[in-house]
Parts: sequence; structure tokens; C-alpha cells
Amino acid sequence: MPTDPVLVVHGGAWAMPDDMVDAHLNGVNNALTAGWRVLERGGSSLDAVEEAVVIMEDDETFDAGRGSFLNRDGKVQLDALIMDGSTLRAGGVGCVEHLRNPVRAARKILSESPHVYFVGEGAEKFAAEHGVSLCKNDDLIIPREVERLRAYQATQSNSKPDGNDLFAPGSADLDHDPTISHDTVGAVALDHDGNIAAATSTGGTLNKAPGRLGDSSLIGCGCYADNESAAASTTGWGEPIMKLVLAKWTADRISAGNLPEWSAQEAMNYLKQRVNGHGGIIVLNTAGHIGIAHNTPRMAWAYKTVKKQEAGVVREN
Ligand code: ASP
Repeated sequence: MPTDPVLVVHGGAWAMPDDMVDAHLNGVNNALTAGWRVLERGGSSLDAVEEAVVIMEDDETFDAGRGSFLNRDGKVQLDALIMDGSTLRAGGVGCVEHLRNPVRAARKILSESPHVYFVGEGAEKFAAEHGVSLCKNDDLIIPREVERLRAYQATQSNSKPDGNDLFAPGSADLDHDPTISHDTVGAVALDHDGNIAAATSTGGTLNKAPGRLGDSSLIGCGCYADNESAAASTTGWGEPIMKLVLAKWTADRISAGNLPEWSAQEAMNYLKQRVNGHGGIIVLNTAGHIGIAHNTPRMAWAYKTVKKQEAGVVREN
């Protein structure tokens, strides 16, 4: 008896201003359509999360692919991970500068390499050798982000240099300042065969130091999938999420018998209480139960089952 498929996507958790809500809803709904097309025809959860994430990488609304935040040197540096819950195979890329769709390269690593993770030039070389074409870094940069970086660096020039809490503005800022955005994208899916998968892709944080890697592409931090627990994708300020290995922490709660809905909310409470972190998470298990939670004012999310489809920028649990 085939399993009924489920797909959940997110497009970042932050104090998203009203005038950006429609673009985000449009983006997550388009991603849902692309991923669902795969699941509907009996395709794998792995293919579904890849296709959903590609749509959001191509959408300049999000901090993934073209249109991502710029690092301190004015370059786009991208991270992505994809993971298959049935085999625990995973593929990740970090700090890549010449890939429009880093999740495609991550998928090639998962499928065609004995390794799990490639960074920088090595990742790009692997991608090119496996049929993923490279682009110029300039092709990933848009004027909105050039201006955002300029404005941010102008406000920083009079304040003290990066300290311990790099990219960690006070919680008051995170709650109210719409320029402090976390627009990472992610997807989790369950397919007809009962297998789950997850993918996460990001341009990281605004003005990050070159070479800085966030949580998004690290197994168990920004992304995780295991049929025996859950598939999860996170977004938010990456350093605290990494310290808690938050995606795996959440999956462990589910394998211990808790529902994804509760576990997602608990993950957000834990993130806030333990390390004063901010973000959001989507979770899904092989029974098709989903969890969507955030502790930021808003997070773009959408999900689809055979019976229901919903999207929003606030999730009440
Ligand atoms: N988690 C990402 C990072 O820290 C940022 C985000 O979610 O938008 O790289």
C-alpha cells in the first residue's frame, strides 16, 4: 500500500515586513508546486526536496542562489545540504561562489561521490565534472543586495568590530529590525515509498566573514533526514543553531515518541532558552506528521498533503 505523500517548505524566519509577505508566499507556493509534481507522479522525496529548493534558489526573494546576502567582501558565498532518510546518504557544499543552484551540486555529491561534503573550489570542481555548470559570482549578485550591504556596513563603521557574537544582534533588533533577515530556504518530503528527505540552501548571513559556514549545510544542524526519526530543515541565526545541532536534536525528540508538531515548538523554546537563538524549523516523519515552528515574528512556510494545502508567514501552534 503506497504512502500518501507530504511536502513542507520554508523560506526563512525573521521580522519580514508586510510589503514582502506576498513575494514570500508566492515563492514557497511555487516551491510546493514543483516538489509536489515529483511526489504526485511517484517520484522520490529526495527529488522532491531538490526541485522545491531549486525553485527558491532561483527566486531572488530568498537568501539562496542568486539574490543572496553578500559577505563582507561583497561576494555571494553559498551553502547547501541534501539528505536521504532511507539510506542516510547526504551531500553538502559550503562556501561556493560559482553555482546558481548549490542544491544540485549537493545532490550530485549524495548520488555520485563516496564523500559527503565539499567546500569552495573543490566543490565547484566536483560540480563541473558532474555536469553542473558554473557561473560568475557577479551573476549571483543583485543591486538590492549591493545596497543592503552598503547600508549595513555604513551603520557598522562607527560601532565596535565583530566580537564574540558575530552576526548576533540583540534580540530586540531581531524582533523589530526587518533588515536583519534570515531568508534561507528548505524542504522536507515524504514519498509514496514511505521515505523522507530534507534539503536546505542559503547565502548565509549579511556581511559574514569570507569562509564563514553557517548551520544550513551541516548535517544535523540546518538539515537532517532519517526514516527512523524525522526530516528537518532550519533557518535563523546559524551560530546558535549549530551549537545545539538543532535539526538532529529535534529528530531525536521524534524518535523518542513525540509528535513533530510538539518537537518543532520545543526546538524553538530550546534555541531561545539555551543560547538566545532565533529561527524556525520544519519537520516531518514517515507517518506524515508535520511540525512548523518559529520564534521570530514571521516565517514563510507552506505544506501540502493529498487532502490539504496551506501557506502562511505566521504559524500558531
Ligand atoms: N541559518 C543561515 C546561516 O546562518 C541563515 C538563515 O537561516 O537565513 O547561514
